[in-house]
Amino acid sequence: MSTKAIRIHAHGGPEVLRWEDVPTPEPGPGEALIHHEAIGLNFIDIYFRTGLYKAPHLPITLGMEGAGVVRAIGDGVAEVAIGDRVAYAGGPLGAYATERVIAAERLVKLPDSIDFATGAAMMLQGMTAQYLLHRTYRVRSGETVLIHAAAGGVGLILTQWARYLGATVIGVVSTEEKAEIARAQGAHHVIVGYANLAAGVRRLTGGAMVPVVYDSVGKDTFGASLDCLAPLGLMVSYGNASGPVPPVELSVLAAKGSLFLTRPTLATYTASRADLVAVATDLFDVVGNGAVKIQVNQTFPLAEAAAAQEALEARRTTGSTVLIP
Ligand code: NDP
Repeated sequence: MSTKAIRIHAHGGPEVLRWEDVPTPEPGPGEALIHHEAIGLNFIDIYFRTGLYKAPHLPITLGMEGAGVVRAIGDGVAEVAIGDRVAYAGGPLGAYATERVIAAERLVKLPDSIDFATGAAMMLQGMTAQYLLHRTYRVRSGETVLIHAAAGGVGLILTQWARYLGATVIGVVSTEEKAEIARAQGAHHVIVGYANLAAGVRRLTGGAMVPVVYDSVGKDTFGASLDCLAPLGLMVSYGNASGPVPPVELSVLAAKGSLFLTRPTLATYTASRADLVAVATDLFDVVGNGAVKIQVNQTFPLAEAAAAQEALEARRTTGSTVLIP
């Protein structure tokens, strides 16, 4: 029995992605074999392809998110049963495949109301939005928040969810077209480009600035983002789409008003099964009640993952993207 997978044998551009036959794995104790119906595309897939994030070994199957059906389980699995519709997000790598094995404790059951494509699109980006808005910083009604890449995968979910929590959302995007998309999903204000970011935020907040910035762009926006914070504000640097943030001089945080800085990851916030289930349940609730509508704006065959990654890297995608095996 073999499985089709997108693997890399070396780091590099999209051309290193190879569509290959690999042996179908068997679930060991505590593991489940999933037949994927849809796989989520995420920016982290690009970091692992380029080598910005180190893969544990090569060759390796990329991908951190999927939705499908449990085909087999190993000894001692209590979380899921054969035939269950399930979804997951997070390590280890291996989602870009028709089938994979994963620890059953990393799986959650997908509600019947959520189709596989939506499930694969929302787990990683949506659980990230959940912890960013509820735990990294607890957004309260009446606050104004700044969200970078607001028309992107995480960005559109953050935008809708922050608005649902009663916040005023200022989104940042690179084009007018993306500004329209962010507005259509609830951004109250959208700033196009970073050139005069702090001036724009000052104008929109009447000089108060914002208590939190959600920055996934990294190198190109870090400095501008700090300038948008109110005293004691929190800089949440959660991604590096433009490249990693260079080392930060701590005194900058003092000079700009006793700022706080964090670099969070989904892995930390969902490390325990209890946290994973709580975060996923919260996400299913806001998707189920319609507060957050997952925008699957691009779909590619899994075999064309390279084209999908090229589009994401070149800023040609909006919302979420799924790969169909
Ligand atoms: P997006 O759909 O947001 O795509 C990335 C967006 O970043 C682009 O569309 C673009 O929006 C913006 N961008 C700015 N500069 C660049 C650049 N030089 N190259 C490419 N894109 C750029 O991707 P995801 O939703 O998958 O991920 C968003 C970010 O969140 C990533 O940085 C990812 O690593 C991070 N992330 C972090 C997690 C965590 O727990 N820490 C978990 C999940 C995601 P525009 O054109 O509008 O500027």
